[in-house]
Amino acid sequence: KSKTIDNLVAIASQFDVEGQIVEIQAFGNGNINDTFLVTLRNSTQKHVILQRINTHVFHQPELVMQNVRVFTDHATQRLQDWSSDRRWEIPSVILTQDNREYWMNAEGAFWRAISFIEAAQSFDTITDCDRAREAGYALGTFHNLISDLPPEKLAVTLEGFHITPRYLQQYDAALAKHDKSKSPEIDFCLQFIQTRRNWVSVLEDAKISGELPLRLMHGDPKVNNVLFDTNTGRAVSVIDLDTLMPGLIHYDIGDCLRSSCNSLGEETQQWQEVRFETELAQSILQGYISQAKNFLTEKDYEYIYDSIRLLAFELGLRFFTDYLVGNVHFSKVKYAEHNLVRALVQFQLTQSIETQQSPICAIVRDLKQGLK
Ligand code: ADP
Ligand code: MG
Ligand code: MG
Repeated sequence: KSKTIDNLVAIASQFDVEGQIVEIQAFGNGNINDTFLVTLRNSTQKHVILQRINTHVFHQPELVMQNVRVFTDHATQRLQDWSSDRRWEIPSVILTQDNREYWMNAEGAFWRAISFIEAAQSFDTITDCDRAREAGYALGTFHNLISDLPPEKLAVTLEGFHITPRYLQQYDAALAKHDKSKSPEIDFCLQFIQTRRNWVSVLEDAKISGELPLRLMHGDPKVNNVLFDTNTGRAVSVIDLDTLMPGLIHYDIGDCLRSSCNSLGEETQQWQEVRFETELAQSILQGYISQAKNFLTEKDYEYIYDSIRLLAFELGLRFFTDYLVGNVHFSKVKYAEHNLVRALVQFQLTQSIETQQSPICAIVRDLKQGLK
């Protein structure tokens, strides 16, 4: 144990941090990277975040860090001209002693240090409309800060990320190899995907036709990547910038809503009970649009409903494909059918979104109307 701590201290010491390291402990609920909180003494920064990047997911971590740097430099600049008295913070990259954005040890592990956002906390679920509005505000602010940063300034670090037709191709390939063992649940999934095949390219088609422009996106705007002020409860930062890359902001909008408006969560076993909570969606969109109204186009509003429906469907499709191939991508499974149940949760959510198409579209319309 103490050897691990010594190692971590040695790693943290590679970075340009002031003062003495008092403590290093595992931190947060992330499930991609290994995250540690470093506590410092005699330093203006009381804490810094030390992370080992998951290189099974990110094959070019140096490009990830380059993206993060381009973003933080740009957003920090924009924030200086901001005419808002609200607290908003952008995590910054702490360089190594020799001015690099990361440190690679002898075993090839890839480490970085990031400034810690003090007096803030993250949550795994959204329980009320106030927090929902703040989560939407956070995503809107994030998009707003980069709305004038050309997407080509950032590298694509995950090829095919959120390109739903590609996930459908992978599904077809998996199905061709699968022994087709049958169960009512498997049949439900097969049927569910079959009846929606022709619609899965809805966002990609809009991208190709130019109806939706290529922009920068966060890529993982789940609620636990938003930090809320511990005293006021208001959103103060969006963190976890690894998947920041060119894409559609609709991937973010859809992913934020599908993950936030399901109070039973992605991991529930009671998939039949899952529903999309439209009241929460209304608050999220209200917060989002309050910050995004200056760059959203008519077409952007038109595709919001599809983006929510598609991102829920896409995740279900990915879970189901992974179940068919034996849990390769979502490899952290607790039981054999885990990814099947995860797929059922997302498909149930998709269905609930579909049955509420009218109220969801009415919410978007009313919010847009309210701006006039
Ligand atoms: P993952 O990709 O594994 O989700 P994150 O970057 O989201 O990793 O970090 C995991 C958790 O650590 C976050 O949910 C948050 O609680 C905490 N955290 C990460 N970075 C910061 C930061 N700069 N300030 C405060 N807390 C942070
Ligand atoms: Mg995270
Ligand atoms: Mg992450």
